[in-house]
Amino acid sequence: MGHVVNDNRASGGILEEFDSKSCPHCQAVINMTTWKKEGGYCFKCDAPICHPCWGLMQKYGCTPFLRQVDLVLGGKRHQSLEDIVRQTKFVVSRPAIKFFGTKGGDA
Ligand SMILES: [Zn+2]
Ligand SMILES: [Zn+2]
Repeated sequence: MGHVVNDNRASGGILEEFDSKSCPHCQAVINMTTWKKEGGYCFKCDAPICHPCWGLMQKYGCTPFLRQVDLVLGGKRHQSLEDIVRQTKFVVSRPAIKFFGTKGGDA
């Protein structure tokens, strides 16, 4: 757990202060204040995860490896993670669909 203080008051901004953790999936800094509202938790990593990773986890499960893929493909960010998943043909286990006895006309 870290603590971030962003004092922008000198430049007319605001004083921003929050506890932070790093996302185990993509290493992004998670603003714990925002996180408390948005949620997002990976039980496999047993750690809070950032909101974009939470969205991805709904589809793909725990995907800490995406960060490595991310680095390999040249620092692409969250917006493109889904594309990366597609490009790398990451195993999304789909239920196998089988058709039984529907050849048509036989029955
Ligand atoms: Zn993340
Ligand atoms: Zn995870």
